Amino acid sequence: MLSELGRSVGLDATAIGRLKNPVHRDAYHDWVQKGMHASMGYLKRTLKVRMDPEEAFPWARSVVVAVLSYKTPESPSWKTGRPPEGFNSLPRISCYALGEDYHRLLKERLLLLHGLLERLAGKSVQRRVFVDTGPLLEREHAAMAGLGWVGKNTCLIHPRLGSYVFLGTMLLDLELPDSQGFSEIIEDRCGACTRCLDACPTGAIQKPYLLDASRCISYLTVEHKDAFQGSEASFLGPWVCGCDVCQAVCPWNVRASLAVSPEVYPDSCLCGVGLKRLEELDLHAYTMLTRGKAFDRVGWAQFQRNLRAVSNNLKAQ
Ligand code: SF4
Ligand code: SF4
Repeated sequence: MLSELGRSVGLDATAIGRLKNPVHRDAYHDWVQKGMHASMGYLKRTLKVRMDPEEAFPWARSVVVAVLSYKTPESPSWKTGRPPEGFNSLPRISCYALGEDYHRLLKERLLLLHGLLERLAGKSVQRRVFVDTGPLLEREHAAMAGLGWVGKNTCLIHPRLGSYVFLGTMLLDLELPDSQGFSEIIEDRCGACTRCLDACPTGAIQKPYLLDASRCISYLTVEHKDAFQGSEASFLGPWVCGCDVCQAVCPWNVRASLAVSPEVYPDSCLCGVGLKRLEELDLHAYTMLTRGKAFDRVGWAQFQRNLRAVSNNLKAQ
């Protein structure tokens, strides 16, 4: 029932999660204590909330987890486990960044779902909606809600939609009965596959399920705000914003169905843009090009820093 309500507001999969301590609580705690979150200080500051969401939100009775697919024909998906010829000779932007800003999309849809649930409950329902920025371990809650498993590349993998998915969570002070959408937890289906570990260009996936953010291109291009040090600029390779490699090689993404929501499809102005065109952008043109996209999270100074690194990497090939 919940999944049908979710679909009616444009969410590809929706389930009721358990607002319990995360299954991989200790592993996450160690990861932060070892400093593998790099300069994402908010992960350390909100560690207690992430570890004990029940204590942090005592009023919450349930957590709704929603999935929105962004896999389109332009999303890299490599059956061979390797990039196609010439892929690394052009500047690249991760496919999640090319469509409309998913924070807004998911939030709007979760609020619509909240309205439907209030109507069904016949009373007002307290809520908190989080998309990416909240102090919840969204992937963990999605896995606990039976929406997939956390793969060796640390992404949530939905069995039908793959890992090119956005996640959103909504805490409610409403007890949702099991019959409304509790699903069985899905066992890890990575099996003996190691494609993501083998393909990661920087060795950021140190071992299955352990990601060193300080070596990850997604982190370096988007979250990291300072000038690059040491090898960091060379780590970027062709990636100006984000990195799709460990998802592009994942067999679950090769077979995943395409996104239904037209809003997540890439803006044609941002598809296959060459180095020269990117280098010609001024602040105004960049603002117009990225406005309303997830790409907008990469500020102008960061974009110029990333582009300088990518330009050097491409010319050095
Ligand atoms: S996003 Fe790129 S750099 Fe980061 S772990 Fe995946 S393949 Fe490696
Ligand atoms: S590439 Fe293989 S090991 Fe990595 S997340 Fe996908 S299925 Fe799991």
